[in-house]
Amino acid sequence: MKKEDCIFCRIANGEIPSATIYEDADFRVILDLGPASKGHALILPKEHFDNIYELDEDTAAKAFVLAKNMAGKMTEALGCDGFNIVQNNGTVAGQTVFHFHMHLIPRYEGDADFLHWEPGRLTDEVKEEILEKMKTV
Ligand code: AMP
Ligand code: ZN
Repeated sequence: MKKEDCIFCRIANGEIPSATIYEDADFRVILDLGPASKGHALILPKEHFDNIYELDEDTAAKAFVLAKNMAGKMTEALGCDGFNIVQNNGTVAGQTVFHFHMHLIPRYEGDADFLHWEPGRLTDEVKEEILEKMKTV
């Protein structure tokens, strides 16, 4: 299903032009208009899913195989030194376009540390709480 007012549905299905670096029956991979690094690209399924919670398992499996293959091809073509795959779900997690997508982010020696977070500490109390909660689902 496509969603009428979704910009990524329209891009993925070719209704809006994009800088496409790969396309198949299920996905389009485009260059991000606001790249974190040179070559930053987005995997867009042609079907609409708001986020990972809505994604069907077949598309999820295909998306990760595609991410693996794109990482290899982009690293070869661009000569990057490493690679991040980022996928945001929900406003609190930084999602701004509510059509499932995966960020393919080439990394280069000396580039900005833009995916850094300060590590916390896993206390015994919180660890036990999480282990118990995960048994309930
Ligand atoms: P997220 O914050 O995970 O939802 O990521 C949305 C990404 O889409 C951002 O990196 C934007 O720069 C990118 N973006 C938004 N609109 C477009 C567009 N029309 N073409 C390409 N990239 C876009
Ligand atoms: Zn969509």
